[in-house]
Amino acid sequence: MIVMKFGGTSVQDKAAICRVIEAVAKHQDRKPIIVLSAMAGATNGLLRIGDFAYQGKRAEAEAISGQLRDHHLTVAEQLLTGPRLEKAQAFISQCFSEIANIIQGLYLLGECSSRTKDALAAFGERLSTSVFTEALLERGYQSALVDSRELIRTDNSFTQAVVLQDISFPLLRQRLTPLLDAGKIPVLQGFIGSTSDGITTTIGRGGSDYTASLVGAAVNADEIQIWTDVPGILTTDPRIVPKVYKIKTISFAEASELAYFGAKVLHPSTLLPAVTRNIPVQVCNSFAIDKPGTFISAKGVSSKTPIKAIACKKGITIINIYSTRMFLAHGFLLRIFEAFEKYRTVVDVVSTSEVNVSLTIDSTARLEQILEELRKFADVEVEHDAAVICAVGEDVRNTPGVAGRIFSAVSSINVRMISQGASRINVTFLVGGNRMEEAVRALHNEFFQAPDPATFEPC
Ligand code: ADP
Ligand code: ASP
Ligand code: MG
Repeated sequence: MIVMKFGGTSVQDKAAICRVIEAVAKHQDRKPIIVLSAMAGATNGLLRIGDFAYQGKRAEAEAISGQLRDHHLTVAEQLLTGPRLEKAQAFISQCFSEIANIIQGLYLLGECSSRTKDALAAFGERLSTSVFTEALLERGYQSALVDSRELIRTDNSFTQAVVLQDISFPLLRQRLTPLLDAGKIPVLQGFIGSTSDGITTTIGRGGSDYTASLVGAAVNADEIQIWTDVPGILTTDPRIVPKVYKIKTISFAEASELAYFGAKVLHPSTLLPAVTRNIPVQVCNSFAIDKPGTFISAKGVSSKTPIKAIACKKGITIINIYSTRMFLAHGFLLRIFEAFEKYRTVVDVVSTSEVNVSLTIDSTARLEQILEELRKFADVEVEHDAAVICAVGEDVRNTPGVAGRIFSAVSSINVRMISQGASRINVTFLVGGNRMEEAVRALHNEFFQAPDPATFEPC
């Protein structure tokens, strides 16, 4: 059993879907379970429909809806014929008439709740999987469309719902095992789930990777494959550095750090379920289906190039906390973290000095309340628009001079904060958001002029 997840660009049009079918056919004897994202641009489009509609811009909302409907209909017409085409057309029309009703409702109400956002966003995956399943059937593959909302049970934190694994895993097994035993290829939507009341939820942007990994863990798959539009995990974001390398093998720990600190190729939660069951993950290129991608597994691979990759993320807020009264006093750190806990805000990077504690957050939704809490016992300063940069590699641990090379490479840039995790496989630091690209290029240049060919491959 394997799980094959295909992202938005991998299912964006007829050509892409045909490549996906070829990839699935190649792995047919490994009992694949397919998890799909929405077609590229669909989720953003659906969310924009919601925004325009509640802001009274009905024509704009309807225009996007029309474009999305036409695109899905075109892809269906190109892939399907006869009753299968009719079935897909009927489903697409039904979805867009429901979307028209939502537009009307939002327009009248003048607001869009997170719950409605999820209902809208979920159409993307529901549409892509429905067209794709028919396309598989049309080509003679026994496939079965499965509604993830019946199997992925979540809480009701709409747009960021938490998956309840204890309920979802047995449901996934009960539904998927008989299909696989009957020789069928199950096709599921990534990204979506539902509450115990059957209300549609989504598990966070980019969440289809996480769905794939949850499905893999539930059925104890032999491998989880994340198919995307690049050759694998690369030495950094190819949109920042054009000449990047593919990493052949990387450890769970390294890949988790990269995903967490902004490497968009993997949703940050993807590897957790895989690690728990020790299921290998492979990141593959759906545009070159015969080429091996990046293998992620429990065992670390040592390399002559100490850094495996550089991740980065903008829009970070730094909070500097000073307290002469409280510093070093028993319970000071506890009080700080209680403030973040109370407002359910994740702290990413922490660094302390004799007189202050600095930490970073990604979400500023509850910043004001957190600051109010902290100001009860400390002086607080906030810096917005920072960027976090994270250089990751198992060999950072035992190679002297890596930190020296990192900070020499970015010596012309003001570094705001530095941190290294307990596992010492990363060096993380913050710079102003406007200097991020420059810093990443400088670092990449320092470490990847001629990277170890045993670990890296040009792409
Ligand atoms: P999908 O739709 O397949 O889920 P995403 O757009 O979510 O694809 O993720 C793939 C993209 O991640 C790549 O096109 C690339 O631009 C970006 N990316 C950022 N950092 C990395 C990295 N280190 N390795 C590979 N891709 C990266
Ligand atoms: N379609 C969703 C998104 O764009 C989920 C995903 O692609 O993983 O965020
Ligand atoms: Mg993605």
